Amino acid sequence: MPVLVETATPYGLTAHRVRVYVTANPVGRPPARSGDVVRTALREAGYPTAFAFFVEVSGGHTRQDVASLDLAIALGALAAHAPGIVSPHALARVLVLGCLTRDGAIAHIPGLLAMTLALRTQGVTTVILPRTADWMRPLLDGVTVVFAASLRDAITQLMTEPRLPDPTPPASPRAAPVAPAPLDPALDLALRVAAAGGHHLLLAAPPGTDLRPLADHVGAHQPPLSRDDILAISARHEIAAACHAPVRTRPTLALPHGIDRWALLGTPRRPGHLLLPHLGVLLLDDLRGYAPDVRSLLRASVTQGRLDIPDAPGSLDGVTIPLTTIVLAPLSSCPCGYDGHPGPRCRCTAAAIATYRRDLPRDLLSLFDLVVEVPRTTTGPAPPTRPGPRPLTPRRVAPLFRVTPSARERLALLTDIATRDGILRIAASVADVADRDWILDVDVEWALRHLRLDRVG
Ligand SMILES: [Zn+2]
Repeated sequence: MPVLVETATPYGLTAHRVRVYVTANPVGRPPARSGDVVRTALREAGYPTAFAFFVEVSGGHTRQDVASLDLAIALGALAAHAPGIVSPHALARVLVLGCLTRDGAIAHIPGLLAMTLALRTQGVTTVILPRTADWMRPLLDGVTVVFAASLRDAITQLMTEPRLPDPTPPASPRAAPVAPAPLDPALDLALRVAAAGGHHLLLAAPPGTDLRPLADHVGAHQPPLSRDDILAISARHEIAAACHAPVRTRPTLALPHGIDRWALLGTPRRPGHLLLPHLGVLLLDDLRGYAPDVRSLLRASVTQGRLDIPDAPGSLDGVTIPLTTIVLAPLSSCPCGYDGHPGPRCRCTAAAIATYRRDLPRDLLSLFDLVVEVPRTTTGPAPPTRPGPRPLTPRRVAPLFRVTPSARERLALLTDIATRDGILRIAASVADVADRDWILDVDVEWALRHLRLDRVG
């Protein structure tokens, strides 16, 4: 009679359940392929190993990583051979996740948080996870989790605690809203408008400006994260950044030039770095530095609001993962970067400036809604944050605003419908930041002054 142990393999942000059936001392069956690691781990943990076993696997995804099944196989083999050590009945109540190492330890695998959250929605009630995943405890209410450092630890907890403990109650997920550091008022308004309306922003900054504090400023002006937001962000960061703590603030991903399309996108089994700016800010460097296929991937993912990760090159199978982010990028008006800024005088020739502007990547530029000046004074280190002056509210959408007659007249002068819609969206965000229900003339004026098309279109 084979012993059943259930496990799962990661796929996107979800989990494919795998059933592992282990028979001890089979007659006329070939020995298990992964028997070496399993046998060594059992021996190191002090368990018997002088028996043969046969493994059958069902479910899960094609091209299963056999190593990720070793923990289930070891538990199943032991239960099949020595049910007094670990009973098949105890194993039937749990789903095991983690990588068994040769010394009998249970190691982390990327995607544990996303898998456990997915399994919870699939009705799984008890999961064994590596002890290193203990930090996930406050995020995993509604599912009983046994955190085990080793095979022996897992078996001890399974066999000595008939009623496995519930995880500790979740801590309050909401961090107190913080006000960003004071900034140049015009820049501050632009960053708040970007935060309110989810607008992508080009920053006309002098060379050497650290844009990261500005990205943090945008994050600080967005609404507080809900518990679901924290789960979504933490699960993504656990996969792509191997984080070891819940992520409770809006993240920023600063994207280096050298990154390639595959590191950004990853595979369904291990999605890539573009998971990281979800519900936060994606901070780009000089737009000219990214490879054309990376630019195309960024543009498609941000405008469609999702990552499409194929299973294999050219395959129609794959996963789709939601991506909501605000993109910030620097923009210079000339090759040296000092045109229009204080500091060293710009000595770029008119021809060099024309060539520079011609070579700006139009595909990526078209992603941005707004351009704003960054004065040199904002480049210092950010002062400590303090509690926010007013609670941040979820963003509103343009149709919820009323437009004054004079603002309407102003908008009517714009003949291009797409431009008019863009201006209206930005003007609505300006009104939102001012906590008004009416879009005024000055909001339309502000939007016209900062629209990307005015500067680089
Ligand atoms: Zn210059």
